[in-house]
Amino acid sequence: MSFAFVGIPRRIGKDFSPAAPGRDSRWRMDMAAKQRENALRLRGCQIRLSRCPICGSEQFEPFTSVFDYSWAQCSRCEHLFCETPPDDDAVAALYSTEDDRRCAQGAIHVDDELFRVRVERIARPKAEFVASEVGERGTRVDIGCATGELLAAAQSLGWKCRGVESDADEIAFGRRHGLDIAAGFVDRSNIGGFIAGARVVSLVNVLEHIREPVELLAAASAAVAAGRYVVLEVPRHPSLARWPTMPSRSSPAATFTRRTVCTCSRRIRRNECWPARAWGRSRSGPSARTLGTWWTR
Ligand SMILES: [Zn+2]
Repeated sequence: MSFAFVGIPRRIGKDFSPAAPGRDSRWRMDMAAKQRENALRLRGCQIRLSRCPICGSEQFEPFTSVFDYSWAQCSRCEHLFCETPPDDDAVAALYSTEDDRRCAQGAIHVDDELFRVRVERIARPKAEFVASEVGERGTRVDIGCATGELLAAAQSLGWKCRGVESDADEIAFGRRHGLDIAAGFVDRSNIGGFIAGARVVSLVNVLEHIREPVELLAAASAAVAAGRYVVLEVPRHPSLARWPTMPSRSSPAATFTRRTVCTCSRRIRRNECWPARAWGRSRSGPSARTLGTWWTR
């Protein structure tokens, strides 16, 4: 991220606990066991990527293997990605509320108390960070909003919010909390319709699940009007926070390096979308995530 944000104001460290509520070592072990079960069920429903999802290079090296899913690192842009992700049918099953291959991550956030805690401790600091950059309130659209934690936090700061999500349980839960959440999988062909009129569009921990992340980002930045904002959060290498929950429910999973983010940033600059602020990198070591804001003109 630092390459992408040279000379741009950056916040370092977090003022909330880096440990997500309820995610102790027992939770991580249970989750890893469920993910392993799921991964074994999906064996044979995988594809093999021939190109880096970020830069398109065909040159990459083996990085690691998680439950028989191969991970590779791009030789050109250093992006780390699952080379053998589940195919489209398997991904749909992972999000389905009826399929027995539903992902173990599916229901973990559908919990009133956890929702309340996460809105206050995790979503609110992020919403405040973005609001402090953007200033004037307006409509905020959160793509891949899950249960709507960010929507709830931003709404309490005066934003008019709506979200898009593909997990039926999370949509129903968010709607029960009074949030405006549309159902659907977002891609480059339909994102323009979802974000029309938004002052802020956020893709928080979404790009790593998208098969064509740079194309989605390009479409999002092209559809955002001048003077509006695009907000991204991505999991960062070499943080290990993400590995216990691999393979992720969507496809392909990835963790971003500085160069990955730099490549994404360069692409959206072509749409006159410029880095505004970043939040990431702890003082003591790599942070699990980086949050960045881009401004359009
Ligand atoms: Zn690459």
